[in-house]
Amino acid sequence: MCLKTSEPKTVRQPNSDSSTSLSSQLLKSVSEGKTKMVDSTHSKHVRETKYDTLLFLLPILMVKFTPILPVYMTGIARMLSAHLILTVHYLLCDKDNYKNKLTQKQLKREKDDYLVGIVLHMYAQILLQLIFPGMFFTDNSMIAKCAVWTFWTHVGVVEPLYYFAHRWLHIPEHMKAMHGFHHLSIHTLPSTSLVQNFQEHFVYIATFGPAFLLPFFLGGAQHWAVIGAYLVLFDIINAFGHMNIRVRHPIFTNKWSPMRYLFYTPEFHLGHHAYFRANYGLFMPLWDFMLGTHREYIKPDPKLLPADQQDFVFIGHNGGLGHVLSCPEFSVYNVYEKYRRTFLPLQAEFMFMHAVNCVCRLFVKSYTVSRYCIGGSKIGRIACVLKTPVDYIYPSRYAAVNKEIVDLIKNNNAKYGTRYFGLGNLNKMKQLNDGGKTIVDMVKADPELQGKNIRIWTGDTMTTASVYNQIAEIPNLKSIFFIGANGKIGQTVCELLAKNRPDMKITVFSSWENMQHPNITYTTDLTELLKHQVCVAGKIVPGHKYAKAFAKAREQNMTNHCRFIMDYTVPFIDIDVKKYGVPEIQHIPIGLLRVNSKSFLRGHFDICMSHDQDHIYPCHAGCIMNSHEERETDEVGDVIPVEVEKMWQRALNYGFQNRIIDYRTLSNSEHKKHC
Ligand SMILES: [Zn+2]
Ligand SMILES: [Zn+2]
Repeated sequence: MCLKTSEPKTVRQPNSDSSTSLSSQLLKSVSEGKTKMVDSTHSKHVRETKYDTLLFLLPILMVKFTPILPVYMTGIARMLSAHLILTVHYLLCDKDNYKNKLTQKQLKREKDDYLVGIVLHMYAQILLQLIFPGMFFTDNSMIAKCAVWTFWTHVGVVEPLYYFAHRWLHIPEHMKAMHGFHHLSIHTLPSTSLVQNFQEHFVYIATFGPAFLLPFFLGGAQHWAVIGAYLVLFDIINAFGHMNIRVRHPIFTNKWSPMRYLFYTPEFHLGHHAYFRANYGLFMPLWDFMLGTHREYIKPDPKLLPADQQDFVFIGHNGGLGHVLSCPEFSVYNVYEKYRRTFLPLQAEFMFMHAVNCVCRLFVKSYTVSRYCIGGSKIGRIACVLKTPVDYIYPSRYAAVNKEIVDLIKNNNAKYGTRYFGLGNLNKMKQLNDGGKTIVDMVKADPELQGKNIRIWTGDTMTTASVYNQIAEIPNLKSIFFIGANGKIGQTVCELLAKNRPDMKITVFSSWENMQHPNITYTTDLTELLKHQVCVAGKIVPGHKYAKAFAKAREQNMTNHCRFIMDYTVPFIDIDVKKYGVPEIQHIPIGLLRVNSKSFLRGHFDICMSHDQDHIYPCHAGCIMNSHEERETDEVGDVIPVEVEKMWQRALNYGFQNRIIDYRTLSNSEHKKHC
């Protein structure tokens, strides 16, 4: 075991992005053979999570044999504290730090595993309660004494024991078998502290056990409240050590300050995650100082643009309960999850959200999502008006929505001088404000905003470009079925296809025949989608309507030629193709761009949108491009077809890219037809 390192004791990292510099430094040291790389099998490890709730509830069965309330109070308090710390960390550290990105992969791993240790400890507590009831249920008057005993056992026994256990875990075989899983997170989150390999939790139960056992065996008493409080406090301090922040008060850094040796800072443990073979200690760096394994780590200063800089605001709104469930304030783990549905019908979810919204509006009128950096010099941010889908259903509410959008523009202009605004999702709906035209008029008429050169963009040109190119690039496609072709985007896509692809027939699902072209026909029968290999959906059709169409087609013995339902509605709500008996159809979201340039767009422009990391809705991307180029004209109303291809070429230059879709099932179905 190599313990001493030949590198200088203090290593300062260059002032660059922490995420890239750290990983590249780690990779560099791995390639130089300085550090043992984490076993690759860990990254493939996926734990089965569907029985988690059951495992959490199982201890209830022991209610006849031992009190379960202390077990659940401790378990639930630990879970709540973990989530609370994550939220606070997000709000204070991650939200506006565009250089410190939450990654989808890490969030998924931590979400799957943060509960394991907590639930395992509940089982250990049940077992110990059965064997040594006295260890938990001493008289309440003993609590203070038990707490003092536990504190000193932690300092005197657990800390050194952990130091050596941790060094033992860093032996390459143990690293490979267990501890490497924890070290998969180089840029730690508070909850990284809870994420350990399954077997490793038993090492920790043995290591931390003395904190409970010794006060009982040597001091004669222990109490469940002390054990619970110890575990919660332990989690909080452990989470603090995994926070990606700088705590550089002299009390922790001055070499004459005892606190430097007695209590760690996040940088101490971040150093452990960066160097692997240093800073093994738990909460007290003392043992590393004494045994020569301490190594100074200084987290690079992210050097962010000023907190009050805000060049562009994309105005969103609430998207229903499913939207709230992926808000980082609610759970950071869910920010890259798909739009979450509950068992309630969508309408009921919307009504519920509306009621919640009415209460929230007593306190706030809008809320902001994290900021991001455009082209290294501009700051963009999503801000949402506190309006729910219900507000966009009833025309009687439209005037209020438009007023609120203009108020948001006014406030942001007054506070930050922001001049560029994008309208997200329903905020540019034709019925609401004629695709943003009304907003432009209201801004012009507003005495406060006159002369402020406010620009309003819908980004619809870019969405049209994305959808059109996605369809036009499908090889050998001769026909499509189009749902929602009468919308601004659908109509322009159809016009462009009719003009540029004379070989392609379009069947539009609508009773309103507003486009006259030999290639465009209309139908009101949804079953006809099965006659086309590709169906494009630009309007939410409830799942049960699809189900009805598929059932009807089955009755009529229709052959299903459909292989793709390509859907650009927002939010994308999955159609359960298996349940509806059409597993050969893939329902996939389009109208979604991959961001390839890490230097053009940085930060959390992608969270809480029900799509994957580093993806963005084209309208949002179009507005971002406009603000980067300082476009001084509005983009509202109908989409101008000649602008679409120009916009697309610009988008490609910025490194945006449509989804790569495997179209092999299309050629297969053609093949089958021929057979
Ligand atoms: Zn370690
Ligand atoms: Zn750690």
